[in-house]
Amino acid sequence: MTETAAELAARLVRPEVRALRAYHVPEPGGWVKLDAMENPHPWPGALMDAWFARLGTVEANRYPDPAARDLTARLRAAMGVPAGIQVLLGNGSDELIQLILMALAGDGRSVVAPEPSFVMYRLLARALGFAYCPVDLEPADFALPREVLLEALGRHRPALVFLAYPNNPTGNLFDRDTVDAVLDAAPGLVVVDEAYTPFAGESYLQELPRRPNLLVLRTFSKMGLAGLRLGWLAGHPALVAELDKVRLPYNINTLTQVSAGFALEHRAVLEAQTEALCAERERLAAALAAMPGVTVWPSRANFLLFRVPAARGRAVFEGLKARGVLVKCLDGVAPALADCLRVTVSTAAENRLFLDALGAELA
Ligand SMILES: *Cc1c(COP(=O)(O)O)cnc(C)c1O
Repeated sequence: MTETAAELAARLVRPEVRALRAYHVPEPGGWVKLDAMENPHPWPGALMDAWFARLGTVEANRYPDPAARDLTARLRAAMGVPAGIQVLLGNGSDELIQLILMALAGDGRSVVAPEPSFVMYRLLARALGFAYCPVDLEPADFALPREVLLEALGRHRPALVFLAYPNNPTGNLFDRDTVDAVLDAAPGLVVVDEAYTPFAGESYLQELPRRPNLLVLRTFSKMGLAGLRLGWLAGHPALVAELDKVRLPYNINTLTQVSAGFALEHRAVLEAQTEALCAERERLAAALAAMPGVTVWPSRANFLLFRVPAARGRAVFEGLKARGVLVKCLDGVAPALADCLRVTVSTAAENRLFLDALGAELA
């Protein structure tokens, strides 16, 4: 073998994969971590003890239930999945996005999604060879541009449309009439990604029975269990059965199945945390809006998008980091996001640390 590894990579790896940049996650450690929409609240001690006791029943020497029947049944009941609609579990909703794309990939296939939106749509669609056709959101308020979007559906005839509802990284909930119009007009499937539904209280889940081209995506991550890696999809059985064929048989490990089932029994704890975070979101938004030179957009999720004075976005992000506060820098991601940062809503104490650090940076 005379070729180097770099030469082998250049010759063998598909060009669309080589053209990608890996999804970047900052090194863990020591931050006031407000970059990834994690829930900052741990469980009460008694609940932790009960959870550990439940984990003691796990037989880690055995493979997991490949269909996660117990968890799926609990999930259906807890979330009110309509009768006749099928549920599929994923190792995070990221994996479900990948499964859907894998099942639909093929020559000449395209994906339409708003821009800016969740980065995994683009990354995974491109990796699987789709033409990725972004549609710019309205620059002022990040609304869906109804006519432009409908025109794009007619022109690209996408196999798949992604709509994050509410949208990440902008935090807004798209106009329901426009989403309905997309569902009516789309020539292919429409994924309504409801990662932030717990904070928005709006959902398309109950629309599923009368919408054959709709897939609804949810996750446990943003509601407080990001470490479990559990997402779920709901859709019509004929479609879900096909997606299930490209799923790895044991994608949901036993610890996650048992832990998520336990969490659903104690959903009230997670729901109280969600409510507290929504109240904090409004306080944090008001505090940001009161800072000179800062623009903050209304959010229905557990994060806020804000803009700092012109040409200072990257420097403010680095300054916050130097002060131990990690947020997400969106400057350069899309023209509409120049000098924009995204901050996860956290506890009152962490939000205060963030606001103090930002105030010092902008002083
Ligand atoms: C965070 C996020 C996800 C991914 O969630 P996981 O279940 O943790 O993989 C999916 N969609 C959107 C819009 C998100 O913001």
